[in-house]
Amino acid sequence: MIDIKSENELKLISEAGEIVNLILKELKAGVRPGVTTADLERKAVEIIKKFDARSAFQGYRGFPGVICTSLNEQVVHGIPGNTRLSSGDILSIDVGIEKNGYYADSALTVPIGDKISEKALSLIEVTEKALRLAIEKAVEGNRLFDISNAVQEFAESHGYGVVREFVGHGIGKSLHEDPEVPNFGRQGTGPRLKRGMVLAIEPMINEGGYEVEVLSDGWTAVTKDRLLSAHFEHTVAITEGEARILT
Ligand code: MG
Ligand code: MG
Repeated sequence: MIDIKSENELKLISEAGEIVNLILKELKAGVRPGVTTADLERKAVEIIKKFDARSAFQGYRGFPGVICTSLNEQVVHGIPGNTRLSSGDILSIDVGIEKNGYYADSALTVPIGDKISEKALSLIEVTEKALRLAIEKAVEGNRLFDISNAVQEFAESHGYGVVREFVGHGIGKSLHEDPEVPNFGRQGTGPRLKRGMVLAIEPMINEGGYEVEVLSDGWTAVTKDRLLSAHFEHTVAITEGEARILT
């Protein structure tokens, strides 16, 4: 069942969303060659503490990190650690926060240093634009898979692979609620979008094939062909007219 949130609940989710945004902004400003993903995690921990909030990821099915950091061919769920960033890398940072019982979730992919390839930049740009196009479809009266289709059409028109194995999700009182929000699907199908629904829309787009596999740490998802992957995510509410971005 897809939960409908009240105005007050949307406000609480957006308060969690503000913390998520702040963390992403700080981490984005802090990424450069030589920094480790554990350094980024430490910064996130500080901010979470300052706002008296909680990581939505740490302890989720045993996930050890406070944030997810996924480098290059890593798609999602990378665990922060000793990995040192190098110029030319791309890094996806995913942050989920719970504050006062409500959750928000957002992610972005950033290029590291100045030795970034054109193809890496293009993948990042297309993935970010796919999210924008998807959010444009998150409108009352549309169907859920209109969102999915917008991502798929745009990404595949650039020859990229759209990850099937991981999907977006409803969010609010828990990190993952109904419905699943795939990044592929047929226009005009799926549940009708109603005011008060809150969705985490999160295209995961691969430079090559869509297939992924999970490394032996049990978490880190990588592209099967080891080509690059990018990830952008926002938590959005279906309202009157345009979707309201809560992160
Ligand atoms: Mg996320
Ligand atoms: Mg998510």
